[in-house]
Amino acid sequence: MKRLEGKTALITGAARGIGLAFAEAYLREGARVAIGDIDIARARAEAARLGPHVMAVDLDVTKDDSIEAGVAAVAAQFGQIDILVNNAAIFTAAPLVDISRADYARTFDINVAGTLFTMQAVARHMIERGIRGRIINMASQAGRRGESLVAVYCATKAAVISLTQSAGLNLIQHGINVNAIAPGVVDGEHWDGVDAFFAKHEGKAPGQKKREVGEAVPYGRMGRAGDLTGMAVFLASDEAEYIVAQTYNVDGGQWMS
Ligand code: NAD
Repeated sequence: MKRLEGKTALITGAARGIGLAFAEAYLREGARVAIGDIDIARARAEAARLGPHVMAVDLDVTKDDSIEAGVAAVAAQFGQIDILVNNAAIFTAAPLVDISRADYARTFDINVAGTLFTMQAVARHMIERGIRGRIINMASQAGRRGESLVAVYCATKAAVISLTQSAGLNLIQHGINVNAIAPGVVDGEHWDGVDAFFAKHEGKAPGQKKREVGEAVPYGRMGRAGDLTGMAVFLASDEAEYIVAQTYNVDGGQWMS
């Protein structure tokens, strides 16, 4: 028996990276999946590759009308939304003395307001229809502790952990479970830019920061998107019915190190 048979999931920021790996994992478990992303060309290409049980949705988590239209589009094509993964986010880094208000506002708008208002729109949809749904927010080890050069991103992920606690406590009365996943460092496309940033600010050779970060993980390597899919499926499944307002580390031991 597939664990998400008959369910529909909306995953934001799923045109690539971790969100796309979740889309593939949910599909394997029998769900229909909506890939919501501002990169609609890539979302469409991935949806076409994955087949008829996957759709692409042009969805910008910073715009309420775009979120509403995205939710309506998924409901129109697949009937309803049972699972939401708030995965869309951006990584920003800067020395503290260089952080601009514009970068601060943009990072919070996508990572925090985007998570909150997508949760709100989908929770309304679930409550109206009596759906005992699941919401999974993507936090990070960056939300567990500060990092030099990464103040704003860390603060957004701490806010996601806090929002998960409050939303989880508020929405469980409607049978909606809200939980979060806190990965450690995960390899992916965005690392090219991250590595270049640290090369500039810490004088590292190209590729050096990424290598060092991987070696520092107690497990012995950086995470891969596939390392997170087991938790993402579990939290969306019936087995997680009694789990409320939690954030789970899936990090190769980084939290303990
Ligand atoms: P990524 O940068 O590879 O992909 C993010 C996706 O979000 C992109 O497809 C992008 O187009 C989309 N996006 C950006 N702004 C958007 C918006 N306004 N509306 C909708 N979509 C938007 O990210 P990733 O590395 O796969 O990370 C996925 C999630 O996991 C994020 O929440 C991230 O903070 C978290 N995370 C990542 C790592 C890591 O090391 N990669 C570690 C911990 C947590």
